[in-house]
Amino acid sequence: MATKPKLGKRAVKKSLGKPRGSTAARGKQHVYFFGNGKADGNRHMKDLLGGKGSGLAEMTNAGLPVPPGFTISTEVCGIYYREKAKIPPAIDKEIERNIAKLEKAAGATLGSTDNPLLVSVRSGAKFSMPGMMDTILNLGLNDDAVEGLKRRTQNGRFAFDSYRRFMQMFGNVVLEIPKDAFEHEFEAVKKAKRASLDTDLSEAALRDVVARYKAVIQKRSGKAFPQNPAEQLQMARNAVFRSWMNPRAQEYRRIYDIPDHIGTAVNVQMMVFGNTGDRSGTGVGFTRNPATGKKEFYGEFLINAQGEDVVAGIRTPQPIRELEQVMPQAYKQLRDITTRLEKHYKDVQDFEFTIQDERLYMLQTRSGKRTGFAAVVIATDLVAEKLISPKEAILLVDPESLNQLLAPGFDATEWKKIPVATKGLPASPGAASGQVVFAADDAVEWTQQGKQVILVRRETVPDDIHGMFVSQGILTATGGMTSHAAVVGRQMGKPSIVGAGSLVIDEKAKRFQVNGQTVKEGDYISFDGLSGEVKIARVASKPSEILQVVSGAMKPQRSDLYQRFDRLLSWADKHRRLGIRANADQPDQAELAYAFGARGIGLCRTEHMFFGEGRIPIVQRMILADNEADRRKALDELLPLQREDFYGVFKGMHGSPVTIRTIDPPLHEFLPKREELMVEIARLETAGKSGRELDEKRQLLNRVEQLHEFNPMLGHRGVRLGITYPEITEMQTRAIIEAACRLNKEGLKVVPEIMIPLVGHVKELRDQKEVVERVAAETMKRMGVTIKYLVGTMIEVPRGAVTADQIALEAQFFSFGTNDLTQMMFGFSRDDVGKFLRIYQEKKILERDPFASIDVDGVGSVVRTGVELGRKTRADLKLGVCGEHGGDPASIHFFEKVGLDYVSASPYRIPVARLAAAQAALAVKVGD
Ligand code: PEP
Ligand code: MG
Repeated sequence: MATKPKLGKRAVKKSLGKPRGSTAARGKQHVYFFGNGKADGNRHMKDLLGGKGSGLAEMTNAGLPVPPGFTISTEVCGIYYREKAKIPPAIDKEIERNIAKLEKAAGATLGSTDNPLLVSVRSGAKFSMPGMMDTILNLGLNDDAVEGLKRRTQNGRFAFDSYRRFMQMFGNVVLEIPKDAFEHEFEAVKKAKRASLDTDLSEAALRDVVARYKAVIQKRSGKAFPQNPAEQLQMARNAVFRSWMNPRAQEYRRIYDIPDHIGTAVNVQMMVFGNTGDRSGTGVGFTRNPATGKKEFYGEFLINAQGEDVVAGIRTPQPIRELEQVMPQAYKQLRDITTRLEKHYKDVQDFEFTIQDERLYMLQTRSGKRTGFAAVVIATDLVAEKLISPKEAILLVDPESLNQLLAPGFDATEWKKIPVATKGLPASPGAASGQVVFAADDAVEWTQQGKQVILVRRETVPDDIHGMFVSQGILTATGGMTSHAAVVGRQMGKPSIVGAGSLVIDEKAKRFQVNGQTVKEGDYISFDGLSGEVKIARVASKPSEILQVVSGAMKPQRSDLYQRFDRLLSWADKHRRLGIRANADQPDQAELAYAFGARGIGLCRTEHMFFGEGRIPIVQRMILADNEADRRKALDELLPLQREDFYGVFKGMHGSPVTIRTIDPPLHEFLPKREELMVEIARLETAGKSGRELDEKRQLLNRVEQLHEFNPMLGHRGVRLGITYPEITEMQTRAIIEAACRLNKEGLKVVPEIMIPLVGHVKELRDQKEVVERVAAETMKRMGVTIKYLVGTMIEVPRGAVTADQIALEAQFFSFGTNDLTQMMFGFSRDDVGKFLRIYQEKKILERDPFASIDVDGVGSVVRTGVELGRKTRADLKLGVCGEHGGDPASIHFFEKVGLDYVSASPYRIPVARLAAAQAALAVKVGD
């Protein structure tokens, strides 16, 4: 997993156009041919040819039936942007040469009246971006070629249907004329001919449609429809490049963290026709079920249709099994080929095919996108089938997708109580419950208001991506298992049901009807993405199967999923170098983290323990005390409570190391808000109250005002508190050492790691270390036990990192606090960054939220400095990270590279961290 380059907006524009090598337009190959069993490219050229182009090349080389064609490389996309939407003549020439080659391979000529060559022009980036960019089919048709096509196929209806489809696509995608303008004319002809289906239109009627489309194009674009196929091709190619930067493609890349600068390739390929009649068809499929991972041939097809009809979700296609009955020969060949492809690529393949007059053609193969469930099932199955090794299995699963396995499901008893309203195709598993909305924008708006929504659409389109992203689930009335909603839902790990045909949706009126019931916007529905059942109610959910096993509520033997999950992660454990710890402050969190595989606590935030039941008044007394004696009295009350907490946390970790941090946040966080106190005092005063209550409130307000800080995040917190009130550090040390001594007496050997936060100067640490060591010695003496403990610090203030060699003189370990380090390196307040971060991301000033994924160039370089300086002073210095980044796969990759000893993440992210750490170790080993 490479850490993706970060580029600002200007950098993106620049690098999109950056020539890679000075021979951008001269001498270097930019167009890669495939056909007649031989291809210029292969599967390892995804960067240059995109996923589709490299797959076509590989299939051609393997001797599979692939229509010939060529791929214009992703570099040309860069050139297109740099040259301000122009392609240098040298590349145009190279394309022309490849057209000639293609004509030869196809035995047909572009624009010919006898035997015209028709091509498809498709996008294809390195990473698949379903439906985000543009495609043009049937290119090459003009007034002459259409007659040639008619002659060749003896099918005038088909020829003119192809021509009108092409004009419509070209008009919309290339000339940017709204679809409606064409639809309007098409419907008018249908009406005049009293045709109810598109297929009812005769050749004559379709000729009429073509004439009307020409008029639309002339009127809307001010120019006639281009008759020259070479010109058509240039225009289509440029439109595909343009579509790389359309808003939905940009949004998609933002969500999936795909860099802008990689660009798309363009694939030009001889058309084969699935729409020549009932002996033709087209379809898509997977070698295994992408929703559940089950080993079953899976997919769907449409007879007498072109590719886009299947993915667009306009007609609900037939399951692929039925192809066996309709065209057994082609079905068998398809099964054989796809099985071979799966073996060859050692992964599930997602393929596209077309059958023209019973002859099969492969149009695409690539690794299939899958749900988190399916990913785990497939990876473990492929190992069991000896198709891959455990090491390869580790690399086959996206760590983030493991989160889907931890998401809740419905409570079975609750679920059964409610009648099923309808059933659709189970496109992506998971339990979804929420309020119905009918538009992507509404989904976003409602979610911002804190509501949970389910997006209900007749079918989704790529423009809905932002709404799909925020919804709990997606429900559509049309489309199959490979429709847009299904593909995108699965990829996002969103529960999704598609093709729920009994829904009658009125998107304008914002309601739908199902079996006599009406559901309006805002009503609650729930559905199960695994069974496809939809219910009109809000249904409570229950923990996932994995969580039930981990928490001991279910036996591991009863859960196949858990066993696979566990198997995969134990393979990961064998290959990772980084230790995995948890950020946990309560005994139950420690237990959970341990069960998830954490072997240690990297951060126990002791202040979280102060918020426990009944403790706040004691903490407030400690803070309000205006002399040391009173403060110590309150601390004495806190001591046994903290000791019990530490005892529980140590025990929950079964002897693995536990890092406990002394108090960190500013004290006023424990007191009531200033404004609230003022209001209460005013209320008491107006009510004519006096006496103790009012006095106490006034006293409290007085102290709150004393403690008030303009910038508390940079104020009296962390080590600064310990320095000003050493008795707090004393109490916490005593509680830690007492708990550890007790456990050691009981036979559990624990080695506490006492961590001082927010250290920027070695003398701060020296001051606190002296307190810790003095109290620890006293405590051990009193308890009659000697235990081992460590004293270390967080590195989270930039000065701490750059003077780490000095700090390491006093610290036995460092834990990088990358939350504060990010805050202080950028000067972004952790609490306020949300106000502008989105705009920073939109403007590509920052590609990712630096609080979620480490800023390698800035914050990362300071971490690296801290590591190097610290180890220079103390070679055995233990190094970890406990900021949020400890659970982020891309950041983990970086921490592996800089050689930390462990990462610490919240309990639920432990599985993600285990897998990501293994992937990082494997990647770093091969020199990434
Ligand atoms: C940090 O700053 O990264 C950290 C882990 O500490 P906190 O989030 O508690 O400030
Ligand atoms: Mg911090």
